[in-house]
Order: sequence, then structure tokens, then C-alpha cells
Amino acid sequence: METTLTPEVRRKPILKQEIAFLIIHLLPLGALWTGATLFDWMVCIFLYIFRMFWITGGYHRYFAHKSYSTSRWFQFVIAFMAQTSAQKGALWWAAHHRHHHRHSDTPADPHSMKIYGFWYSHVGWIVGPDFKETDYKVIGDYAKYPELVWLNKHYLVPPVTLAVIVTALGGLVNGGSLMAMFTTAGFSSLFVGFFLSTVILYHGTFSINSIMHKFGNQRYETGDESRNSVWLALLTMGEGWHNNHHYYEVASRQGFFWWEIDITWYILKMFSWIGLIWDLKGVPKHVKYSRNKAHAKELKKEYDQVLKSA
Ligand SMILES: [Zn+2]
Ligand SMILES: [Zn+2]
Repeated sequence: METTLTPEVRRKPILKQEIAFLIIHLLPLGALWTGATLFDWMVCIFLYIFRMFWITGGYHRYFAHKSYSTSRWFQFVIAFMAQTSAQKGALWWAAHHRHHHRHSDTPADPHSMKIYGFWYSHVGWIVGPDFKETDYKVIGDYAKYPELVWLNKHYLVPPVTLAVIVTALGGLVNGGSLMAMFTTAGFSSLFVGFFLSTVILYHGTFSINSIMHKFGNQRYETGDESRNSVWLALLTMGEGWHNNHHYYEVASRQGFFWWEIDITWYILKMFSWIGLIWDLKGVPKHVKYSRNKAHAKELKKEYDQVLKSA
């Protein structure tokens, strides 16, 4: 498919640009000073699950792949919720991801482990200076909404809002009053509930970019290195069916078979039952049971013939 495998020149991170990212990784250690309560740990677990859903169901399956439709107001809610994960603007996230699919495991892929190695594909491309901007042309279908462009530019509004809410709750629950949010009662919730779950979320998401193109099984011949792994699918609420996803990226489900657990898809299904979202794209039978695109075409012909003769 590709004509050359010569890597692009990718620049090294500039330390002073990445101080915030570094500090976020260190802040959970603040718990050594504040301690952590059961409440803080529960917030940490809840915020991991809650935000992982919006990363995969929002950033990924909605903005990057348009795998379902929704209203303009709920689309904004999706972007806001996804951005509480502090993984930048929804348009930034989705534009780079579209780029990844278009150039998967070729030199133009922002994060190919095959071309650039584990560390670069995991975190190097995030901290490097080459992928800081949003290519609005790639995401023109959503960049036409000014509220989304605003949120994309002010991408820190959702995570900061969430961090303040978590700290206030910590004050109330751990310290017994709202004012206690300014004491260790609030800070322990901030460090463990908010920052620790944010860091774990980073590396959950980054793992899809790095090791999901290396470890696991490949059911479909996608021409890239994408793999399926049940363990990563559980940890990332469905994203571990990454070879399925590279084969048929428009589907709202990434587990193609009933035994391929895909919690994000179950939640999206429930959203559709209450009318929040609709037109969830499925996986056609000829795609599901094929090995590669040519085989899928053959199967489609076969299935169509059976339908005609029935
Ligand atoms: Zn994708
Ligand atoms: Zn991929």
C-alpha cells in the first residue's frame, strides 16, 4: 500500500511547553501529604469509567467517526463531557484520529508504533510540537458549529470545571463543609479523585495508539498492524477491539460479535432508547464474516443472491 517507510522528521518535546503535562503526572503524589479517603478512591474509579465512556463514545465514535447522529445541543454535551478528560478539544482529538486511520502504520500516521516505536506512539507525539494545532479542514463537518470551535479553543474549561466540582465535593464529604475544599479535605479529592484518574485515563487512551497496533489477534486483514485484545477492551470499555474497528471504522460498535464485550456500545444503545442519539451504524453481515475487503465483496454477492431466491 505505502510506497516508502521512511519516517517523517518528528521534533522533540520542548520542556517548557510540557510542564503542565508533567505536573499533572506528579499531582497524585500530593496524596502523600493529604492522605486519601474512601470517597476519594470512589471518585477516582467513577471518573475513570465515566470519562472513558465519553472518550470512546464521544471523541472517538461520534466526532472522529460519525458512527451515530444526535441533536446540536447533545453534541455540545458530548464534546464537553469528553473534554473533561483533559485530552484537548474534541475537534483536535477527532482530526488527529481521522489522520491516524487515513495513514495507519505509514510514516504520515501521527502515532504508529511500527514506524516510530513504543514511546513515541504512546506519548511522544502528544508532547512533541508537531501535532499541537487542529486541522479544521479534516474536521469541517463539525468545525461549522461555532460553539464546538469555541470549546475546542478553550479546551481547559471542562476539565477545570470538573476539578473545581470534585474539590468542592471533597470539602463537603471529607471535611463537612464547602469551605473545607480549601483544606486537605478538598485537596485529597482533587489529587486522587481528579488527577489520578486523569493520568490513568491518559495512559488507557494512549495504549490504544501504541500497543493496540502490536499485541493481540488480527481477525481482519486491514493492511495495518491493528489488533484485538479482550483485556484492553475491558480496560477501555470497548476500544480493545481495535482490529475490528480499523476494518470497519464507521460502526458504533467495536465488538462485532456478542461475546466481544463493548460497554461503550451498550451505553450508546441505552442512549438511543431514550432518544438522545439515533442512527447508530451497525456492522453489515458480509463485513462481519469476511477476512478482507475482497472477501467481503464476494460474501455480499452471495448473501444478495440468497435474498433474491428467497
Ligand atoms: Zn478510530
Ligand atoms: Zn488505530
